[in-house]
Amino acid sequence: MEAVLSRHFHLPEPPDLKTYGDYRALKAALAQKPADLLDQIGQTALRGYGGAGFPLARKWSAVAADAPRPHYMVINLDETEPGSFKDRKLLYRDPHLIVEAILVGAYIQGSDRAFVFVRGEYAEGAQGLQRAVDEARAAGLVGRNILGSGFSLDIDVHLSAGRYICGEETALLNALEGRRANPRSKPPFPFQQGLWGKPTLINNLETVCQVPGVVLNGVDWFKAQGVNGGEGTKLYSVCGPVKNPGCWELPMGTTARELIYEHAGGLLDGHALTAFLPGGASTAFLLPEHLDASMNFDSVAKLRSRFGTCGIIVLDDQTCPLDFLIAINAFFVRESCGFCTPCRDGLPYAHSILERIEAGQGRPGDREHLLELCAKIAPNSFCAFAPGAVMPMESGLKLFADVIERHIAEGACPWHAVPARRAV
Ligand code: SF4
Repeated sequence: MEAVLSRHFHLPEPPDLKTYGDYRALKAALAQKPADLLDQIGQTALRGYGGAGFPLARKWSAVAADAPRPHYMVINLDETEPGSFKDRKLLYRDPHLIVEAILVGAYIQGSDRAFVFVRGEYAEGAQGLQRAVDEARAAGLVGRNILGSGFSLDIDVHLSAGRYICGEETALLNALEGRRANPRSKPPFPFQQGLWGKPTLINNLETVCQVPGVVLNGVDWFKAQGVNGGEGTKLYSVCGPVKNPGCWELPMGTTARELIYEHAGGLLDGHALTAFLPGGASTAFLLPEHLDASMNFDSVAKLRSRFGTCGIIVLDDQTCPLDFLIAINAFFVRESCGFCTPCRDGLPYAHSILERIEAGQGRPGDREHLLELCAKIAPNSFCAFAPGAVMPMESGLKLFADVIERHIAEGACPWHAVPARRAV
């Protein structure tokens, strides 16, 4: 495999323009027609790496050339979900790759202006990206009539208000417009009426950063990078009680076993794997028996979970699974935007029951009641936040049924003599 996203990750500092080199992919792209480049992306079957996995070429072809101008491109870098930190790596380690990828992407999409919406906590990374944009502008790579091609693009770096919901694509548009970050109803979809009512394509950062590699090396090269039925490369990450938590560019389709036991160094001495969330906090648990599954969209979906961002979170045998569920749910309770009742009130209610069970005051039927709640919250909420929030809870309540029933029957947590207090 040839590293394309991580080729500068070994450098002590992110490369400046001179170290990064001239924008070869941009020059190669400007020499071709956008439609031909879009066709190449279609052949790679590249999908969105933000979690939804929508085919990239289909998304990029959604805005008709004659739709009202201007057309906007938005990079969603509001990466706030526990377990997901791959885009941070790109932001902090190679900002010029981001600038070049945006230029290539905007040229193919036919966008007039690009916005990078950066997680509030990544302020230092946003400053580095702004420096890269300024450097590129000074070199004639950003702005009007780039390299004499007739293509013009300005790039705005915008710091998020610092809420998880700002990463939901329509809430992000509201936030960019200076409004409260509540999700919008769809349709109209952002590609029809997005930022300030104009056609807008919202892209995950890692996905866009894959495109320069395709432009330079071609479709067959891209496909050959994957293994076990996957294509291209992927920034995989692992966190939790492992020896070497981190983020690595690896062939798409790498197995969970290789990720956890080779790249992350295996679990801490004396710890054993109970389960893992494959794609960040809003996915369903997988078990040790799934370690040899290829980590790609389709194979994880077949296991009834979600590939998500493929940020694996490990649950070990020294952590109470119920406590783990409570910690995840606490995050979603805190981050709900509060717009709709099932999410705003349902998640805290579920949380109070989980905490009561953990505190040794569980009642027979609590687990079934929680499962019923999950089934009601998910389909009756306004956006995808709540279904994502209940996914680990629902799967945990089923997979760890015996543990939860033991809490209730024994009136105590088998892991903790005194339950820890948590702030919600
Ligand atoms: S599901 Fe949650 S985050 Fe989404 S609109 Fe409703 S309250 Fe807001």
